[in-house]
Amino acid sequence: MQNSEEIWRRVDDKKESFIALSDRVWGMPELCYAEMRSCAEHVAMLEAEGFRVTRSVADIPTAVMGEAGSEGPVIAILGEFDALPGLSQEAGLAEPKPVEANGNGHGCGHNLLGSASMLAATAVKDYLAANGIKGRVRYYGCPAEEGGAAKGFMVRSGAFKDVDIAISWHPASFSGVNEAESLANTRIDFTFTGRASHAAAAPHLGRSALDAVELMNVGVNYMREHMPDGARVHYAMLDGGGVAPNVVQARAKVRYLIRAADLTQLTPLVARVRKIAEGAALMTETTVETRVVSAVSNLLGNEPLERLMHDNFMRLGPPDFDDADRALAAKFQATLTKEDIAAAHYRHGLKVEPGKVLCDQIVPIETEGSGGVGSTDVGDVSWVVPTVQARGATCAIGTPFHSWQLTGQGKTGYAHKGLVHVAKVMAGTAVDALNNAGIIASAKADLKARTGDTPYVCPLPADVRPALDMSR
Ligand SMILES: [Zn+2]
Repeated sequence: MQNSEEIWRRVDDKKESFIALSDRVWGMPELCYAEMRSCAEHVAMLEAEGFRVTRSVADIPTAVMGEAGSEGPVIAILGEFDALPGLSQEAGLAEPKPVEANGNGHGCGHNLLGSASMLAATAVKDYLAANGIKGRVRYYGCPAEEGGAAKGFMVRSGAFKDVDIAISWHPASFSGVNEAESLANTRIDFTFTGRASHAAAAPHLGRSALDAVELMNVGVNYMREHMPDGARVHYAMLDGGGVAPNVVQARAKVRYLIRAADLTQLTPLVARVRKIAEGAALMTETTVETRVVSAVSNLLGNEPLERLMHDNFMRLGPPDFDDADRALAAKFQATLTKEDIAAAHYRHGLKVEPGKVLCDQIVPIETEGSGGVGSTDVGDVSWVVPTVQARGATCAIGTPFHSWQLTGQGKTGYAHKGLVHVAKVMAGTAVDALNNAGIIASAKADLKARTGDTPYVCPLPADVRPALDMSR
């Protein structure tokens, strides 16, 4: 990896302590809104680096912001640090073996995500100070990306109102600018209440909440044929009413996750799901209560920032993975299917190259990927601040996200190299924007053009608070 630019050298100067931070967070995997120790690690690092720290952003105990520099434009670099349930896995081992049975694991690489973003912010801070440049850089430590929509609550609280541009990234199979495509979504809990009764002696006196959930699921499944293309509906049973089949279940709770291309499509779809729930309650003579857990907007791209970030990728070149990296990655890739590997190529708009284990290229900016579209709460930030995201290669090509294989690769040498590489891309993008006022102006004009007809409407109802208890 060449290191011809000052900002890249500043990333390298500090990289060891941020790799260590990533490894520590990997070792304490914590779920949505319960990231107390991981957040404390991030706060300690911000303080050690001399950032001015604001805790409990948007009244969320595990959201933090650190700022450095003075006057000038404000560049936000966003990080995350939440883990996933059930994805515990020993580091570096290419066969399933949890560290803790049913334990949490960093199956989406957010240990790397937070550390690389703070490393980039730190390098920009050092660059500003060394060169006497007016400008501020902020690191936003954003919790609960995996379903808590924390960034939406942070946007709603005004945490980004004076930010000029926002930069983030996500681990991936390949390195390149992220294609801005993601689905708007909302999570809603439906709780049905009926009447308990002896299931054999007095079934006629019972009203089953579990029946209501089943009828709701059937109704929604019939709706699928008549949804907009690309919409998605998923559900998880939170409470089946208990373990006794000889009791008519008086309560049952199901969580729905409803996704569509944008809020214009999502809002009517959510209304239809709510009608089906009411229908199920009517049919079973139960009642239904609903609670919105989270909601996110679709992601907006920003062409000037995407071109700027791509320039940085091209100047830097791909990560310099070596034979030892490829040998270990090959072991993980051997646990994947051909379809997994092909899907990772298609997602980035690339032809499948059998035998390639780790990324050795920058994905061309004009390629269009297919498939693999999810949701992210970066979406809400992108509606209020010009936003760009990188994809940084940190795993064997084809590794599915939210898998034990991804957790297992979170502390490998190649994940560490990917962390440092993408930090250089983000820091370089930030410095280029600070050194060229025209870029920030054109990024803002691009956002204005995209939102002119459809101004941002926060998808979170005004009375909905962050579901701080959602992981309990
Ligand atoms: Zn993720």
